[in-house]
Amino acid sequence: MTDSGFLLPDLDDEISAPFWAGTARGQLLVQRCASCGHPRMPPRPMCPRCRSLDLVWQPVSGRGTVWSFAVPHPPLLPAYQEFAPYNVVVVAIDEDPSIRFVGNLVSGPDAPINSVDPTGIEIGEPVSVVFAQVDDVHLPRWTRA
Ligand SMILES: [Zn+2]
Repeated sequence: MTDSGFLLPDLDDEISAPFWAGTARGQLLVQRCASCGHPRMPPRPMCPRCRSLDLVWQPVSGRGTVWSFAVPHPPLLPAYQEFAPYNVVVVAIDEDPSIRFVGNLVSGPDAPINSVDPTGIEIGEPVSVVFAQVDDVHLPRWTRA
């Protein structure tokens, strides 16, 4: 939790720091095992398939489809209450649909998380990543492609 009251990642976490450095540059990165190539998202120190500790970070296109979504209802954390109802989407990445990101579908990079009516969201609709700066974090969010 930060000054704004939003739940934000720890940018100094050594496992995920490269991911957040990527979003700050406008890049969506995926951690992959350097031994077997298995994606490790969310990032973690060890490959669940081969137990290797070796990893690489690779950029992806930032294009995907809505795999699922939810509409949070109160009680919510105070910072989120004024935005309800808003959406939370799970996006499957085009390069590898097993890689999924959780975020919000928004009308533009700087639009609030309630800028898209959640009743109009359809599973399978194409989306593209955008990056929204919240405090010192650049969060991946999604717009309709
Ligand atoms: Zn592996």
